[in-house]
Amino acid sequence: CRTMDGPELELTIPAGEAPRAAGATADEERIISMNEMILLKLGELVLKGLNRNTFENALIKNIRRRLAPLGEFEVRMAQSTITVTPGEGADFEGAVERVRKIFGVITFSRACVTEKSMEAVCAAAVEYLRPQLSRVRTFKVETKRSDKKFPFNSPQISAEVGACLLDAFPNLTVNVHEPDVTVRVEIRDFAAYVHGEPEQGAGGIPVGTGGKAAILISGGIDSPVAAWMMAKRGVELTPIHFASPPYTSERAEQKVAQLLSRVAAYAGRMYMITVPFARVQEEILDKCPEDYFTILIRRFMMRVSERIAQIEGCAALITGESLGQVASQTLQAIAATDDAATMPVFRPLIGMDKSEIVAVSRRIDTFDLSILPYEDCCTVFTPRHPRTRPELEAVREAESALDVEALVNAC
Ligand code: ATP
Ligand code: MG
Repeated sequence: CRTMDGPELELTIPAGEAPRAAGATADEERIISMNEMILLKLGELVLKGLNRNTFENALIKNIRRRLAPLGEFEVRMAQSTITVTPGEGADFEGAVERVRKIFGVITFSRACVTEKSMEAVCAAAVEYLRPQLSRVRTFKVETKRSDKKFPFNSPQISAEVGACLLDAFPNLTVNVHEPDVTVRVEIRDFAAYVHGEPEQGAGGIPVGTGGKAAILISGGIDSPVAAWMMAKRGVELTPIHFASPPYTSERAEQKVAQLLSRVAAYAGRMYMITVPFARVQEEILDKCPEDYFTILIRRFMMRVSERIAQIEGCAALITGESLGQVASQTLQAIAATDDAATMPVFRPLIGMDKSEIVAVSRRIDTFDLSILPYEDCCTVFTPRHPRTRPELEAVREAESALDVEALVNAC
């Protein structure tokens, strides 16, 4: 977190090691000596043709970064699957939690890794899946064999593992059409893996592969959701927050930083840039007609954000606006706001209802913080009767009383 000329403070997850190329770098013995690991299946990535390598490498890099604070993990890619294997003392449960929030992963499974023999695979299926299998009545086994040198084919492996499970669990029968549990066996290059139902991953595409954009972040419900949605589409975020001390408090700013650290669990490490905005707002209050305050304030936010975005190498601005939600979010007001920007402005929530936005906000765990009652610079200077359909010419006219360039520079 830093102000434009203030000190830097790291908000969340520290950088991990540099990415390593995916491939057969690990030693087989070591993987096999470790028991539980995570198998991740990639989402849209598999569709990306020539870009696929870039996407996969970005995803591996993101995974390594997010897991670095939890200990040593081996992360590698083979055949559209990433394996995450914990080293001695690494926080495996913590890793599962973090993996759940990494964009680019469509599903993931906690899995048991074993040596590649029928005996070991059967024993692993019985022991590792005991808690699930002892609670259900029906199952089937699905096998994927990417190591074609393994001496049994997939149907043979499924049949053998199925027979072992029937022996071990008298409560079970096979149902290939609608099983309560599907036991999955994967015979891969370095080891065999056994797991149950995969869990939904965060979806989306890896952060960093969609370029960089600045998110205008307030302490409200909407902008953290907008940030999350764009990060989900691979965009790396630079958060910009407008604060108006002494009208807004330091606590209000800290709340925004805290909100961002929740978003960072998905979007990765970010630095928040806080812009001191009181002077601009006082000037507008002094020199412009009251019913244009909101729209003029928003035009300044766009200009200042664009300036910062250029410095930070961002190609677009993002806001949490939703059509018709408040006076400044009508078509005319949005047009008058965008008139002050030259970069594309993305508004991912534009067609969403508040209840839909709240649902996402709860899901990404920002809602409880967002509703804490701290003041925002916009709420401090709210006019009694804001224009809901401002004419662009009238807005420009109202603004002409100000030295726009000097004010933006001062910010
Ligand atoms: P939010 O819930 O995100 O605060 P809102 O419904 O309260 O949105 P506004 O206050 O009009 O609507 O803000 C619209 C958008 O403008 C916000 O989503 C955010 O992108 C941006 N914005 C508002 N206030 C600030 C601020 N203090 N700093 C940075 N951006 C802001
Ligand atoms: Mg707000």
